[in-house]
Amino acid sequence: MRSDIRVCAAWRDAHDRPVYTLGDTCPACGADAENSAPAPFDPEDAYGEYRRALKRRGRE
Ligand SMILES: [Zn+2]
Repeated sequence: MRSDIRVCAAWRDAHDRPVYTLGDTCPACGADAENSAPAPFDPEDAYGEYRRALKRRGRE
């Protein structure tokens, strides 16, 4: 299951924090919006388990 919430693809350059939207473009700067699933602070982080596993593996 994936979220329909998108995040401004340029927020790191254009904003102080992620700008979320349900549309195809950022409402604040007009840049493309991309799927927010990979965002590290997504409360419904479907990739968290996978990423943590990768990180552990990288340290060992
Ligand atoms: Zn933006």
